[in-house]
Amino acid sequence: MKAIVLRVNGDPSVLRLEEWPDPQPQPHEVVVKVGAVGVPYHDIVERNGVLRPGHGLPKILGNEIAGTVVALGSGVAAPKIGARVCSKGFHSCGECRRCRNGNETLCSRRRVVSGGYAEYVAIPAEALVEIPDTISFAEACMLGSSTAVALNALRDIAQVRLGASVLVTGASGGVGLPALQIAKAAGANVIAMTHSPAKGEALAEGGARHVVVAENGRDFSDDVRKLTGDDGVDIVIDTVGSKVFAPAFRSLATGGRYVVVGQLTRDEVALNLARIIFKAATISGVTSARRDQLEDVVGLVAAGRLRSQIAKIMPLSQAAEAHALVESGGIVGRVVLQP
Ligand code: ZN
Repeated sequence: MKAIVLRVNGDPSVLRLEEWPDPQPQPHEVVVKVGAVGVPYHDIVERNGVLRPGHGLPKILGNEIAGTVVALGSGVAAPKIGARVCSKGFHSCGECRRCRNGNETLCSRRRVVSGGYAEYVAIPAEALVEIPDTISFAEACMLGSSTAVALNALRDIAQVRLGASVLVTGASGGVGLPALQIAKAAGANVIAMTHSPAKGEALAEGGARHVVVAENGRDFSDDVRKLTGDDGVDIVIDTVGSKVFAPAFRSLATGGRYVVVGQLTRDEVALNLARIIFKAATISGVTSARRDQLEDVVGLVAAGRLRSQIAKIMPLSQAAEAHALVESGGIVGRVVLQP
């Protein structure tokens, strides 16, 4: 089969189309004919090796996968051959103490799903959820690692409620965009924070009542306070991390919940812990999404309550161009590759 193989870390030009052996399904795995694979910013970091240089090379990137099941390994009851599926971001064992307690995202044996930059990929059946014919592969590929994570962060971790105020940092990103939609659907007053003035309109269309533009690391907390009657927001969904932590935490209301979804660099933050005490703040991390959360998201998309925002669909052979486009930061929504 054809696949984009990462052999060395580097700029986008290291992503080249090669012949690669067809995957064979191991027990409890299925082979998926890839219909679409998303290019989240995480793939950029994997490619350039900033966080984990040399890790697992050579490898095939691609964690946001949708496609058709074409072969079954032993012990697979579902999905069936021919089923249209999308992937969670990871596979959990289903047997460890955390899996048995409903905490599959914390599974002690969890493995990241990968290999989607290819014509075919073998994936544990547990990591796949079926999608109806009304959802395209391009729309479906990003649901597991983006939309379902936003649902987990807002609905289940932050417990967003009607009338709550929500700040989403990195609002034009893969988790940011669905977070705007979900917060709006829950009846929240949604504030989108972005670095780019050009993205304001798209974010307002995407569900934000207010857009705060913070170019060059500007402190945007005064803007947020003005928009919330000097109170601050009940919930921060932070998809950026340390680069915006100081102003985002300053934007949090007393008793607020700060949910960390993304961390794009190795930078650390300074925080006087007394501020957590005086704010009675809760800081939580979200790693990924459970299977039932992905199923809920598929249902919400099928019902037209949520929609996937696609920036551009490109052929798999243009993976390098796709990475350059994502790295440029000038896009709203997901860049999607199709073999
Ligand atoms: Zn487990």
